[in-house]
Amino acid sequence: MAATSQLIPAAPSALAARGRFGSAFLRNRVGMAGAVMIVIAAIVAVTAPFVAPYDPYERVTVTIDDIYQAPSAAHPLGTDDGGGDVLSKLIYGARVSLVVGFVAAFISLIVGGTIGLLAGYFGGRLGALLMRFTDFFLVIPDLALLIVIVAVLRDRSLFNLILVIGLLGWTTTARLVRSQVLSLRERKFVTRARAIGAGDPYIIRHHILPLALPLMLANTVLVISLAILAESTLAFIGLGDPTVISWGQMLNFAFGRGAVSANAWWALLPPGLAIVWVVLGTTLLGTAMEEALNPRLRRHHLETEERPGGSRASLLPGFAAAAAGADAPVLSVRDLTIEFDSPAGPLRAVDGVSFDLRRGETLGLVGESGCGKTTTALGLLRLLPPGGHVVGGSVLYDGRDLMTMESDELRAVRWSGLSIVFQGAMNALNPVRNVGDQISEAILLHQPEISRRDAARRTRALLARVGITASRAGEYPHTFSGGMRQRAMIALALACNPDVVIADEPTTALDVMIQAQILELLASLSREFGMGTILVTHDLGVVAQVCSRVVVMYGGRVAEQGDVRTIFAEPSHPYTQALLGAFPNVGDADRALRAIPGSPPRLDALPTGCRFTPRCPYAFERCPAEIPELYVVDGDHRAACFLLAPAAGIGSGTPTNGGRGSDA
Ligand code: SF4
Repeated sequence: MAATSQLIPAAPSALAARGRFGSAFLRNRVGMAGAVMIVIAAIVAVTAPFVAPYDPYERVTVTIDDIYQAPSAAHPLGTDDGGGDVLSKLIYGARVSLVVGFVAAFISLIVGGTIGLLAGYFGGRLGALLMRFTDFFLVIPDLALLIVIVAVLRDRSLFNLILVIGLLGWTTTARLVRSQVLSLRERKFVTRARAIGAGDPYIIRHHILPLALPLMLANTVLVISLAILAESTLAFIGLGDPTVISWGQMLNFAFGRGAVSANAWWALLPPGLAIVWVVLGTTLLGTAMEEALNPRLRRHHLETEERPGGSRASLLPGFAAAAAGADAPVLSVRDLTIEFDSPAGPLRAVDGVSFDLRRGETLGLVGESGCGKTTTALGLLRLLPPGGHVVGGSVLYDGRDLMTMESDELRAVRWSGLSIVFQGAMNALNPVRNVGDQISEAILLHQPEISRRDAARRTRALLARVGITASRAGEYPHTFSGGMRQRAMIALALACNPDVVIADEPTTALDVMIQAQILELLASLSREFGMGTILVTHDLGVVAQVCSRVVVMYGGRVAEQGDVRTIFAEPSHPYTQALLGAFPNVGDADRALRAIPGSPPRLDALPTGCRFTPRCPYAFERCPAEIPELYVVDGDHRAACFLLAPAAGIGSGTPTNGGRGSDA
C-alpha cells in the first residue's frame, strides 16, 4: 500500500447524528402534534383504572332508565345500551385498540419487512419464490379472508385476533419494501459499500435498511390504522373478543342496539372520534419521523463552492516526475473480457482489453459513451451490475489475480488495495448518513483494530486534505455542493491508502472551474501518495490535462494506447484521429471540427472484424473480415488497425465507405 499520511485527531459523530434526528423531529410541529395525540391515547390506556369514573367490567344491575342516558354530571358522555358509562368504556377501549394496532403492525413490519428485504436485495430464485408467496396472499381480499379465518377460530381471544390481523397485513409492506430495496441495491453507494469490502449483512444493515426504514415506518403507520379498523370491523360484526371492551365493539353495540333510532349520538360519536384520533396521530407521527430519518426531505439548498485547501501544485510536470521512477506495474490487465446476459444470449461489452498501470501514473481510459470504459473499470473490481460477468482474462494486483479471488479475499483488497471514485457523487454517497460516517466506515471495515475515535480523526484529516473544512464531517451529502461531494468521494477513496484509484468520470456534471480543481486535486494526490490512477473519461481535454498514458477504447476493444503526448501529436488509429478531430483546439481556431459519422456499435449488433469499420474513412476489404490485433507503432505506442500491419500500407485496399467524414 501507499505510504500513510500524517493524520490529525478529530471527534466521532455517531452521537451527534442521533442528536440531529432528535432535534429535527422536535422542530417538526406537525410531528410533535401527532406524538402528543398518541402519547395522550397511551396515557389514557395505561391509567385507565385510575382515570375512568367506573369500572366497565364490573357487573351492575341496571334499569330501563339507565339505558342511553344523555350526558350528565354522573356520566359525562352518557350511557350506552346496557346502561354502562360511555366515558369509562371509551377509556378502557383505548387499551384494546392501541394494543391491537401497534402489536399487529409490528408483526406485519417484521414479517413483511424481512420478506421484502430478502426478495429485493438477493432477487433471483429466492426473490421470485418469496414474491409468489406474497402474491398468493395479496390476491385474496384481506377483509374477507380475515372474517373467514376469525369466524372459524374456536378461540377469538385478543391474542389470536392480533396474530391473525398482523399475519394478514404484511403483504403490502413486503411489496413496498421489495420495490424500494430493488431500487436501492442498484444505487452507487451500495456498489461503493461493496467496493470498500462490506458484506451483504453489513450493507443491508447500514445502507439498505436506513433508507428503507422511512417507507417501512410510513407503511407501518398505515398498518396501525388498518389494524385498528380491522379489529373495529370484526368487533362491529360480532367477531371480536367478547370478553374485552374495544371501540369497535362499542360501535357494534350502538348500531345494533338502537342508538341511531334513540338518537343517542353519544354512544356513536366518541368511539368513532377516538379511532380518528389515533389514526390521525399515528399518521402525523409517521410523516414527521420519515422526514427526520431522511434528511433530503427536510431541505434543499445550494451552497457556494468552497475553495480547496489542498495542494496547488502544477499537474503534468510534477506528475510526470513522479511517474518517471515508477516502472513496475501495480496493476496488469490481460485480455479482460466481459459479457452481459440478454434474452438473445450473452453480449460482449469488453473484449480482450489489456494494459498496465504503474505507480504514480494517471492512465486515461477514453472513448465515446458505450465503448466499454466504465464496464472495464467496474470489471477490474468485479463490481459489474447484475447480469454482467467477467468471462475471461486476468487482473493482476500484488501478484494475485483479482478475477479468481474468493469473495473474502476480494473484499479485503477492495478499497485497501484498489478504490473507486464513482461518477455522480450524490448517488454514490448514502443520503441518510453523514459524510464523515461514510468515510470512517471504510476505515473501520478494513482496520477494525482502530477505534471509532481514531477513524473519525483520520476522516477529518482526509477531508481537510481534499479541501473540505473538517468540521463539516458531520453534515449530510445534500448539504454539500457538487464539487464538495466529489471531493468527499476522493477523500473516501483515499481512506485506506490504496495503491490504485479508479476515477469514473469524476468531473461529469461539474462546471469547468470545479472540474479543473477536482482534476488538480486528483493529480496532486496521485503524486503525493504514489498511487496508480485510472481516469475514465470521454473528455480528451481532461486526458491532456492530467494523464501520462492513454488507452483509447472502441466497441469494447482497445483501439490505441500509448504516451499521451505521442498519441495527441501523432494518433495512429483512425478512431483516435477522429476523436481528436472532433475536439476543439483553442490554438487553432480556424480548424473545422469534424464530427465522427454514425454512432458507436450496439452490443447486440456488433460489426464483424474491426468494429470501427462502418465509421472508418479508410476501411477496406480486410476490415470487416478480420479482427485487427494491436500493432506496435513505436515503443509502448500500439494501435489496432490493419493500416499499421507490417504487410499493409495506408490506402492499400479499397475503402468500403468511400472514406467519408463530415464537417461539423
Ligand atoms: S482501416 Fe480498417 S482496421 Fe483500421 S480502423 Fe479502419 S476499419 Fe479498422
